Amino acid sequence: MPLTASSPEPLQILQEVFGYAAFRGPQAPIVDHVTAGGDALVLMPTGGGKSLCYQIPAIARQRAGQGVTVVVSPLIALMHDQVGALHEAGVSAAFLNSTLDWEQTQDVERRMLRGEITLLYAAPERVTTPRFLSQLDSLKERGKLALFAIDEAHCVSQWGHDFRPEYRALTVLHERYAGVPRIALTATADALTRADIVERLQLEEARQFVSSFDRPNIRYSIVEKKEATTQLLRFIEREHEGDAGVVYCQSRKRVEDVAQTLCDAGINALPYHAGLDASLRQKHQDRFLRDEGIVMVATIAFGMGIDKPDVRFVAHLDMPKNIEGYYQETGRAGRDGAPADAWMAYGLQDVVNQRRMIDESPAGEEFKQVMRGKLDALLSLAEASDCRRVRLLGYFGEKSIPCGNCDNCLNPPQVWDGTDAARKLLSTIYRVQQQSGISFGAGHIMDILRGKETEKVKQFGHERVSTFGIGSEFSEPQLRGVLRQLIATGALSVDAQAFNTLQLTEGSREVLKGETPVMLRESVSSPAERKPRREKTSRGAPSPAAASLDASGQARFAALKAWRGEVAREHNLPAYVIFHDATLAAIAERAPATLEDLQGISGIGGKKLEAYGADVLRVCASF
Ligand code: ADP
Ligand code: ZN
Repeated sequence: MPLTASSPEPLQILQEVFGYAAFRGPQAPIVDHVTAGGDALVLMPTGGGKSLCYQIPAIARQRAGQGVTVVVSPLIALMHDQVGALHEAGVSAAFLNSTLDWEQTQDVERRMLRGEITLLYAAPERVTTPRFLSQLDSLKERGKLALFAIDEAHCVSQWGHDFRPEYRALTVLHERYAGVPRIALTATADALTRADIVERLQLEEARQFVSSFDRPNIRYSIVEKKEATTQLLRFIEREHEGDAGVVYCQSRKRVEDVAQTLCDAGINALPYHAGLDASLRQKHQDRFLRDEGIVMVATIAFGMGIDKPDVRFVAHLDMPKNIEGYYQETGRAGRDGAPADAWMAYGLQDVVNQRRMIDESPAGEEFKQVMRGKLDALLSLAEASDCRRVRLLGYFGEKSIPCGNCDNCLNPPQVWDGTDAARKLLSTIYRVQQQSGISFGAGHIMDILRGKETEKVKQFGHERVSTFGIGSEFSEPQLRGVLRQLIATGALSVDAQAFNTLQLTEGSREVLKGETPVMLRESVSSPAERKPRREKTSRGAPSPAAASLDASGQARFAALKAWRGEVAREHNLPAYVIFHDATLAAIAERAPATLEDLQGISGIGGKKLEAYGADVLRVCASF
C-alpha cells in the first residue's frame, strides 16, 4: 500500500509507540514528507525532537513493507543507548560498530538482510565499506531499503565545528541508491554551513525544514572573566547545587585542574578529554548519563549526540571558536524544556588565544578569513550590552525581540564611554612603537598609560613618552576591557609571532580620530553575581518536573525514581531512557490505581505500559 502524505499512520505511531499526544513544531510535515518518500534537510535546535523525524518514517515505511532504515551517526559511543531506547519502546533496532565482535556483527547483518530490523545505526566509515554497500545492494534489489537518515549532518562541512572527512564519502548513498529517500538532520547551520551540507550531500532537491532556533528555556549569561574557576564555583554553588552540568575548557590540563577544584569543593565532577584512556572516558560518560547530578568538565571532545534531557547548565570557562560551537554546546542544556543556564566567562586572553589559533593554523588564507569573521561574530555577542538572544538568533537569520531571559535583559548593564581611554591606549601604542622601534604587550602599555614606573618602563625610557600617566584615572580592569573590545572589533591586533605584542591596524585610525565611539559594559560586578537566585527544588533532587507536586506526590516521585534507577541498571541504560522525570512526575501526580489511569500520560507508549505498568502501580500503591 503506497503511503500518502495524509496517511494517519505517523500520528498513530507517535501515540502508540512513543506515548506522545501530538507532534511538536514542524515534526508533522517532516514526518509526512519523509514517510511519503521525499528527501529532507532538517535544521532544528537541540532538544527540538529530531530523532522522531526519522524514527517514525522508519517505522511507517517498515510497516508498509519497505524495509530497513539506515541511520548514519558519528558517535559509536552513543549508539548503544539510542538503540536501547528504541527497544524500550518496542521498536526493532540494532547497531553495527567496532564494539561488536565478529559473531555479533554477522548476526546483526543477517537480521538486517532478512528485514527484521527497522532502524540500523552505523558510523559513516562503516556505511561506506564495500562489504556494507554490497549488503545494501542486496536490500535495494529486493526493495527493502526504506530510508537513509544522516544525523549530525553538519559534520560534512568544514565550516561546521565537527568536520568529519568520512561524511564526504556519503555521496555514495545518493549515487548508488538514487530512489531511496534521505533525511539529513543537524542542530547547527548558519547559511554557509547549510549551503555546504546541501552541496556535499547532494541534497539540492531535498525540501528544507528550518525551525526556529530559539531555546526559550535557556538563560544566556556572559560574565567578565576574573578568577574563572572561582566564578564558576560560585555560579554552581549559588544556582546549581546538585544539578547535572557540563563545563567546557580549552585544554586538557585546564579540564583536569578545574575538575579537581570542583571535587575539592564537594561537587561531583569528572574530567573528560581526548588525552584520557578510551575506557576511562567511556566510564565517565556513562556515569554522566546514568548517575544524577554529575558535572562533566570537558574539552569539546565531549557532548555530541549526548541526549541526556536534564542537563541544567552548560558553562564555558574558555571561549569557543564561533557562535555555531557556542550554540551547539550550550544547546545541550535543558533538552527537557525546563529552565537551564548557559553561562560563559570571557576575557582578554580568550580573544588573544582565539585570534592566535586562527593565525597559526596551517589553513589557507581564504579559510582563515571565514574563521576570523565567525570569531568576530562571537566576540560581538560577548561584548554586547543588549539582548544576547536577539543577537544569537540574528546570527542564524532569525529576527526576534528582547527575550527577558538573558543577563542583559534581566540586568541591563551600565555602559560607559571608553572612547577617550581607547584613544589614549592607541596613541600610547603608537608612540612607544615610534620611540623604541618595537611593539609591546598589553600589560606594559597599560603601565605606561597609568604612569607606573616599573622596571621595564625605566629600562626602555618609556616614562618619557608623552602619554605617560595621562590615563591614571582608569583602572586596570577598565583598560583591559577597552583593549579587549579594540581587539574584538579589529581596531587593534595581537601579534602571536612576537610575544603577543599589540599592533595598530587600519581600524585603529578611526578610533584615534574619534570617529568610532567605544562603548563598554561597566566592569563592576558580573551580571551573574547580581541576578536573582532562582527558586530551587529540594537539594539532591534537582527536578523542575516535580516542583509542583504536593508532599505525597513528592514521595511517590522519589519512590518511582528509585524504582527507575533499578530498572535502568538492570537494562544497562540511562534512567531517562526508561522514563523521563516529567513522565514520572505526571505519574506521581495522578496517583494511578489501574492501568487505565496510566493511559494518556506523556511518554508511556504501548510497550512501556505493558512492560512497566504493573510495577509502576505497585510502587504507587505503597503510599
Ligand atoms: P534532538 O535530537 O532534536 O536534540 P530529541 O530527538 O532527542 O531531540 O528529542 C528531545 C526530547 O523531546 C526527547 O526526550 C524526546 O523524547 C522529546 N520529544 C520529541 N518529540 C516529542 C513530541 N512530539 N512530544 C513530546 N516529546 C517529544
Ligand atoms: Zn535577552
